[in-house]
Amino acid sequence: GWRSRAAFKLLELDERFKLLKPGQRVVDLGAAPGGWTQVALKTIGDRGRVVALDLLPIDPIHGAVLLEGDFTEQAGEDAVLAALDGQADLVLSDMAPNTTGHNATDHLRIMGLVELAADFARRVLAPGGGFVAKVFQGGTEKELLAALKRDYAQVRHAKPPASRKDSAEAYVVAQGFRGSND
Ligand code: SAM
Repeated sequence: GWRSRAAFKLLELDERFKLLKPGQRVVDLGAAPGGWTQVALKTIGDRGRVVALDLLPIDPIHGAVLLEGDFTEQAGEDAVLAALDGQADLVLSDMAPNTTGHNATDHLRIMGLVELAADFARRVLAPGGGFVAKVFQGGTEKELLAALKRDYAQVRHAKPPASRKDSAEAYVVAQGFRGSND
C-alpha cells in the first residue's frame, strides 16, 4: 500500500499528464512519509532513481536515496545535488509549510517554496524534463508563471480529484523543459 493519501494525487497527475517514464531520474522535494517516492519508483523501475528530501526522516524505501534536510537551506539543496550527481528528468515538490491559519502568510510561504523549487528545477533538468509543484489555488504568481512558460513547452494548473475540495491546494505542472540550465 501507499504510505500517504498524497500518493493518489501523484497517481492522478501522472494519469493525466504522463509524467513518469521508465529510467527517469526523479527529485522528490517534501517527500515524507514517502508516497510520491513510492509512486515514482513503481513506474521508473530499476534503471531509474529517486532522490527524496524532507525536513522529517523517511523510513527506508528500496531504490530511493532519502535525505533529511531543509530545502530552503543551502545544505539541503547541496545534499540533493550531490545525491543526484547529474541532471534530473523530473522535479517534484509537494512541499508545504505548516499553515499559520493566516491566509496571506500561508500563501507567501508556499509560494516561496515553489519559487525555490522552480529555480532548482531550471538548474538540474535535462532537456524535455518536467516540474510539478504544489501551489495555492488561484494559481501561480504572474512572474513565476511567465518564467515557467518561457522555460517549458507546456504549463498547466491542476487540482487532482484526491485533493480535498475544501483545500486551497493545487499543482502547477510544467513539461517539455526547453533545456538551458543558466
Ligand atoms: N508527497 C508526500 C507523500 O506522498 O508522502 C507528502 C508531502 S507533505 C504534504 C509535505 C512535506 O513537505 C512535509 O513532510 C514537510 O515536512 C515537507 N517540507 C515543508 N517544508 C520543507 C522544507 N523547507 N524542506 C524540506 N521539506 C519540507
